Amino acid sequence: MEGSLVNGRLLGKESRELALKALDFMEQFDVPPTPENYAVWICFATDSNPELCGSVKEQIESNEPFTEQINSDLFEQYFQWKAIQDAILEGGGAMTRELGAVKESLEAFGRDTAAYGEALEGASDKLEKAKDQSSIKVLVESLVSATAKMQRRSQHLEDRLHETSKEVDQLRNNLEKVREEAMTDALTGIANRKRFDESLRRAKRDTDTNGTPLSLVLCDIDFFKRFNDTWGHQTGDQIIRFVAGCLTRHSEDAHLVARYGGEEFAIVMPQTSPVDAAQIAEKIRRTVESKKLLRKSTNEDLGNITVSLGIANYNGNESIEELIERADNNLYRSKTEGRNRATADTAIKGKSAA
Ligand code: GH3
Ligand code: MG
Ligand code: MG
Repeated sequence: MEGSLVNGRLLGKESRELALKALDFMEQFDVPPTPENYAVWICFATDSNPELCGSVKEQIESNEPFTEQINSDLFEQYFQWKAIQDAILEGGGAMTRELGAVKESLEAFGRDTAAYGEALEGASDKLEKAKDQSSIKVLVESLVSATAKMQRRSQHLEDRLHETSKEVDQLRNNLEKVREEAMTDALTGIANRKRFDESLRRAKRDTDTNGTPLSLVLCDIDFFKRFNDTWGHQTGDQIIRFVAGCLTRHSEDAHLVARYGGEEFAIVMPQTSPVDAAQIAEKIRRTVESKKLLRKSTNEDLGNITVSLGIANYNGNESIEELIERADNNLYRSKTEGRNRATADTAIKGKSAA
């Protein structure tokens, strides 16, 4: 009742609704309003993490209670990086207090609304029976005062909700920032292994649902150890950044370019056919090969470097590990068949192996 009043009249901003939606859920399922739990349920309310939402739904459907253990498992499982946990605990404490205050205000507002309704009803009765001007005046004054009180309450509630929405926005921004950092490779600025894993899992799920193609490209710098030994680790880092740039330049917006390991990279290519994936891989190979590299610190000629690539297309019937393994086997074939080539299950034009 209070909720609908608030939702209908007072709440404008999406984040206010979100905060209350999360709180409603938590109340419904008897989940204590701690920052950790709040982080889980705001995520559920925004439907922003399919796996977390799936786990929460599963628990709801099991009709088993959200025990302390389950709540803490959900939090640990989906906010597994310490930096994110710290951000939640830091921003969440203040927000939980704020949300508690909003709940109290809402309850008080609800009580006042009921009292105000009763006052109005009583007033109309009394008005009918009122005989003289002074008793009407008393009645009107009491109504004016009740109305003013309601307005103050409503303003107070509005202020509270405004504060809360600011806190919610801030927490969401913090979380987004920390999450972004936790998913980015510091040397190259492209996605790291964690984001790669997440992206490939999501792409596979989408493909399983809608049947669009999904390709995966793995890329490894050739003879990199030798390069490092000759030119030093720092120049090696310069090369890693250069290759990351080539991969990014040739991939499409929907693709995810990641640093998979030390001098190994991967591109997740949703909605990309094996032929298109192979063409992109070949372009990357040619670009890397053709670039004359100079040592940044001394301008010395570093010669050319090359990369080997392996491509696999998701067959709709395999695990992520199997898909990666097939791409890796093709990369290995590129290496054993002379390096500086791209290999897929089907033939690639040009230098590539069949
Ligand atoms: P191959 O053609 O078979 O791939 O030969 P390779 O020398 O590249 O072989 P391998 O994969 O065994 O060597 C990778 C080297 O990459 C080992 C390590 O010294 C170097 N490396 C890994 N991470 C980094 C990094 O972050 N910076 C630099 N500069 N070098 C790295
Ligand atoms: Mg390697
Ligand atoms: Mg290598």
